[in-house]
Amino acid sequence: MVLLPTGPNLEQIFPIVEIFHSIQGEGHHTGISSVFIRFGRCNLRCPWCDTEFDEWDDMTLGQIIDDVSKFDCDRIILTGGEPALQDLPTLCGALRATGYHISIETNGTVAIPDGIIDWICVSPKDQEYPDVAIRQREGDELKVVYLGQDMSMYDDLKDGFEHLYLQPCYVEGESVEWNGLNFHATFEQIRLNPEWRLSLQTHKWMCVE
Ligand code: SF4
Repeated sequence: MVLLPTGPNLEQIFPIVEIFHSIQGEGHHTGISSVFIRFGRCNLRCPWCDTEFDEWDDMTLGQIIDDVSKFDCDRIILTGGEPALQDLPTLCGALRATGYHISIETNGTVAIPDGIIDWICVSPKDQEYPDVAIRQREGDELKVVYLGQDMSMYDDLKDGFEHLYLQPCYVEGESVEWNGLNFHATFEQIRLNPEWRLSLQTHKWMCVE
């Protein structure tokens, strides 16, 4: 009997909050046109989180591929919520087979299988959850949201990443003073620790997604 190779199950369901075409606003790829796939569900509840992930539509893999293909863009960013909670080998295998460059933005609490993603950005939330282990300890980009935490907590983790970014926590609706303190503290940290580079959420300043 000949075993035929099987393709991905295009009926497999994923929880999708939104799929949209924008420009990466933060981190190493700031300014690059990208399609974002935002997944529902997160395993953390950061108090300053401003991302919607509790409500989603169930979409099949086939519908997701159809949606992203509507945009003239070959870069996809998987975000959330926590995208590493999903069946990434199936999803990324199907998307990469059609030629997409895949990045992920993850909180690092779930290990990502090797070789399925082109760019791994870990944004740990251990300033809020010091007891939750970071399991994805290698990648391309470590992007820390700065809220005044002791930076020595990243001494071990940062060795696994090529690019280190420090990003001030900015919350829309908070006072100018609250956000301003984080900006100033981040500025000082980078001035004193030049291995870190500044990341700003430029999409928020431009009022785009
Ligand atoms: S890990 Fe990210 S998506 Fe999840 S609650 Fe924290 S900031 Fe929000």
